[in-house]
Amino acid sequence: MYICTLINKSDIKEIKELFSTAQNVVIVPHKNPDGDAIGACLAMYHYLKKTGHHPTVVSPNDYPNFLRWLPGSKDVLKFDMQNRQSKRAIKEASVIFILDFNALNRVGDDMQKTLQKFKGVFMMIDHHQQPEDIAKYLFSDTSICSTCQMVYHYLEKLNDVEVIDKEIATCIYTGIMTDTGSFRFPSTTSETHRIVADLIDKGADNAKIYNNVYDNNSYGSLQLLGRALTNLVVVSELKTAFITLSQAELNEFDFQKGDTEGIVNYGLSIEGIIFAAIFIEDVEQKIIKISLRSKGSFSVNKFARKHFNGGGHDNAAGGKSELSLEDTITKFLNIIPKFKNELLTSYEE
Ligand code: 5GP
Ligand code: MN
Repeated sequence: MYICTLINKSDIKEIKELFSTAQNVVIVPHKNPDGDAIGACLAMYHYLKKTGHHPTVVSPNDYPNFLRWLPGSKDVLKFDMQNRQSKRAIKEASVIFILDFNALNRVGDDMQKTLQKFKGVFMMIDHHQQPEDIAKYLFSDTSICSTCQMVYHYLEKLNDVEVIDKEIATCIYTGIMTDTGSFRFPSTTSETHRIVADLIDKGADNAKIYNNVYDNNSYGSLQLLGRALTNLVVVSELKTAFITLSQAELNEFDFQKGDTEGIVNYGLSIEGIIFAAIFIEDVEQKIIKISLRSKGSFSVNKFARKHFNGGGHDNAAGGKSELSLEDTITKFLNIIPKFKNELLTSYEE
């Protein structure tokens, strides 16, 4: 389903008016932010700073090392670690940007409670399905590859594309690159490429950005990838593949945040497979974190919503399970035969 809630001309006028005087702004990504979420927040951070405002990025928690090189990263507050400072920034804000998520519970319980008390203006820029009705200004388009591309469109609407400098271009480029699997997912359009070309013209160093994000593995993370691939199970009659990683395995390879990012995609790279999952045990949070990917019309967003308390996009979603790793796999294996028809007809080679 394609839904687009564009901010209209009168919204733009109001937004311009709002920002005609200096504002205290808090910018929030979802919990466990990825390249798109952090890229969008830092792009907005630099843009607002450059245009005379006082922005603060408050992330619910920390993010992987391969994003810490982004310009402005050292200024990001982590709500769980810098709780007092974060709460003060939220208290003093007149505007809060919600970037790359669509429901307040995506920031985690503690931060959600703080945000619920906020009485100012919420602005949401996001590309996930079924946004909650919490923002005064909602800019939502589920056809767009990344929130970072939407931030570019937002600046276009404000007639501020020319404000984009090397720092802003670098942040937006990073989010588009990471959310499109380096420009290969079907959500990548000619428009995306035109925008990316403009970002390179504005100073984004494409080769360096790729290198900073992807050529950043530790020995342990590659060994962990090796174990994940050894654990891969193929259910060929359902065009499905899945991977498990237990907490013991994560510990064995000195797991660091971000080390498992992207591993789920290996399942989809097997010939004939159109549905891939990874189940990762998190003993501390007492959950199994699940990532789901698909090719074609089989919606992992619906699958995650219905069975694993999650959501996302049609072809990339996530969720969680409170069962043990073993019981979660048993549940998964019991569910997927019910989708046999959809799985077998989802994608034409
Ligand atoms: P990932 O598998 O990379 O963590 O997430 C893939 C997509 O699904 C992202 O767009 C992410 O925002 C969304 N997603 C991941 N986990 C959850 C979840 O627990 N709930 C919801 N609603 N969305 C999720
Ligand atoms: Mn995104």
